[in-house]
Amino acid sequence: MILKARAVVTMDSAPIPDGALSIRENQILAVGSLEAVTALDPGPVHDLGEQVLLPGLINAHCHLDYTMMRNAIASPKNFTAWVQRINAIKRSLDSEDYLRAIQQGFAQLAKWGTTSVCNIEAFPELMPRMPEEPIRTWWFYEMIDVRHRITTDDVVAGALLFFEHRATSLGGFGLSPHAPYTASQSLYKLANDCAAAMTMPLTTHLAESSDEFAMFRRGAGPLYDLLQSLQRPMEDCGAMTPFELLWKSGAINASWILAHMNELIEDDFALLASLPPGGAPHIVHCPGSHRYFGHAPFPFRRLHDLGVNLCVGTDSLASTDSLSLLGELRRLRLAEPWLSCEDLLRCVTVHPARALQREGMLGQIKKGALADLIALPFHGPMESVYEEIVEFKAPVPWMMIDGKTLL
Ligand SMILES: [Zn+2]
Repeated sequence: MILKARAVVTMDSAPIPDGALSIRENQILAVGSLEAVTALDPGPVHDLGEQVLLPGLINAHCHLDYTMMRNAIASPKNFTAWVQRINAIKRSLDSEDYLRAIQQGFAQLAKWGTTSVCNIEAFPELMPRMPEEPIRTWWFYEMIDVRHRITTDDVVAGALLFFEHRATSLGGFGLSPHAPYTASQSLYKLANDCAAAMTMPLTTHLAESSDEFAMFRRGAGPLYDLLQSLQRPMEDCGAMTPFELLWKSGAINASWILAHMNELIEDDFALLASLPPGGAPHIVHCPGSHRYFGHAPFPFRRLHDLGVNLCVGTDSLASTDSLSLLGELRRLRLAEPWLSCEDLLRCVTVHPARALQREGMLGQIKKGALADLIALPFHGPMESVYEEIVEFKAPVPWMMIDGKTLL
């Protein structure tokens, strides 16, 4: 089939006015002018009219488990208080609540044009009952061993439970040691070994809050006190920054997707600057969650200038108000007005595809890419096409995933 629209934004080359693309099964065969594409594919032609067709958006950091928690925790006094509050709420919920939350979360993601999501799953035991995912999903198995050490056997058993019911997933599986304050160094190393053996992506929360920074760098603060009271061994605190600690010990490497990285000091920037080109880990910024916690300004420009692959995610509705990635880009645009709308869109297309090692397959419209696409109304001049996309505030009216029209 051929899809035709007033504009095609490929995120690979310049936008194409009156563009078209040819799709066979779940793959894009050709993209260009309607004449060029019809010369290769006799059709039928599906005309999307006065719309712009672009790659589906990729959310690089999300927790669908907590979709029911919108506005549940009003401005916590610090990050540690929020952690305690969300843990208390979690204890009051059951499996049915989480299954419903995940289903509602998927509907929200699709509504706002997300075709792929990195979802961190804290309840692997729900996997056999999980609804069929409507969008391409990477299920990251969340791993925590702060209360009791997880052995290799536990991880393998948990991972098998997690993976065995989803062989047909459009996305894939990954591992997510939660954060350096809840996951031991040996758990990170175990995750690295498992991920290497099974070719899976890895993600973790890192340097998210000033509480976490104070715990590791100074050996003090509310998070230090809380974790010490839980009998966490605290010998890794009082010297290095969270990023230094995980990087220098080899717990993480350039393949990792690091959520947040809000609290960085000169030592961290020097460490990043010392890495070879392409040798830094991927970073996900979550602008709504960042604002909710009132963190210090995110060092987007410094990380960008260091060549770090910067992605944007929503985090969960326990710390932001919407799962709209375009909404997150608008927040980022307010904070970083020097960024072009094309650069902003890269953070939810090309960059997260690279982080998932799916560059050229997702996040771009090009020959050989998967047919994950969205379309939204476009009436202005071609030179404003990126801006019109970023500023589009309504639900996305048309979506295709893996060659199948969803909306
Ligand atoms: Zn998170």
